Amino acid sequence: MSAQLRDLVPYEVPSCDNVIKLDANENSYYFPRPVMEAINDAVGAQTFNRYPDAETRYLREAISSYTGVDVNGIMAGNGSDELIFNLLLTFASGGKVAITTPTFGMYRIHSIIAGAEPVSVPRRAGDFAVDVPAVCEAAASPETKVTVVCSPNNPTGNITSLEDIEAVLRAARGLVIIDEAYFEFCGETVLPLLDRYPNLVVLRTFSKAFGLAGLRVGYMLADPAVVQAVRRVKQPFNLNAYSQIAAAVVLSHLSVFKKRIRAICRARDRLLPELAKIPGVECYPSRANFILFRTPLKAADIFQGLLARGILIRNMDSPDLRNCLRVTVGQPEENRLFLQALAEVLNR
Ligand SMILES: *Cc1c(COP(=O)(O)O)cnc(C)c1O
Repeated sequence: MSAQLRDLVPYEVPSCDNVIKLDANENSYYFPRPVMEAINDAVGAQTFNRYPDAETRYLREAISSYTGVDVNGIMAGNGSDELIFNLLLTFASGGKVAITTPTFGMYRIHSIIAGAEPVSVPRRAGDFAVDVPAVCEAAASPETKVTVVCSPNNPTGNITSLEDIEAVLRAARGLVIIDEAYFEFCGETVLPLLDRYPNLVVLRTFSKAFGLAGLRVGYMLADPAVVQAVRRVKQPFNLNAYSQIAAAVVLSHLSVFKKRIRAICRARDRLLPELAKIPGVECYPSRANFILFRTPLKAADIFQGLLARGILIRNMDSPDLRNCLRVTVGQPEENRLFLQALAEVLNR
């Protein structure tokens, strides 16, 4: 085992029963019943004794209609997590991966597992904007095989402009991955750049806006040559038959989800000022379905105090994010209970 792997801490997911779960940026609304019925109907005709479609053709057709990207530029995966891993295995092994931190932890973890060296390019203190000249410099280095920017960024909630991303694409020698896991909440995408930049990869997921976190479906949009390269690495039957059907059915019910996405954004925009009103709490504006905030107390104490009151959020405390926590926007009643519990914990 490599020294890097020996130092890697296995990913821990807390499992707590009977809590209000606002820790993983899932869609907090119950899954729409008509969509569930449509999935059950579609699944009824399947024979699960056969292996799933290795090429996920039907789902890719649906994704193509949704995004406007040609099917040859689409690959579906077992969550976008799997695609991150496969992209890094294909393109980054033995090289460096530039990551704009603080951000989603899987870029670093998968880099290490893929035998690549993650290199942090810190975002600006204060507003967490990407430091464009620094990212361009890192991306231009021949050692950097992949550069990753998450927009809207998890956990800071801010987006990176098309112009800034285009500057990185121009400077980069290798691949540039833009993780748009939260695209549906902000509506801004770098997809219009795809035709002009064969080194651009856009990642999306069904886990957040579309409420399918439990079924693990993500996809990438890229130049067909990138998709062909990753096909060498991917497990043939990476996406199970049930999930392929469910994701395609979800895309045929877009209007239901769009309504919910708007409701979540409205709830977020109500939650943020309420959160900021609690004395001592400092909030960061968000274009996604979560909010990052800082308190004067130790984040671990806030986390435990909330958990004792039945509310699970995410402790993001690190040198980059001192005493910060991230809360997922829940249903209105859940948000109210969270605010009440947080005020109590801070008042003790
Ligand atoms: C949640 C999340 C993912 C993971 O998505 P899956 O499709 O569930 O694997 C990827 N990127 C970011 C930034 C996320 O927050």
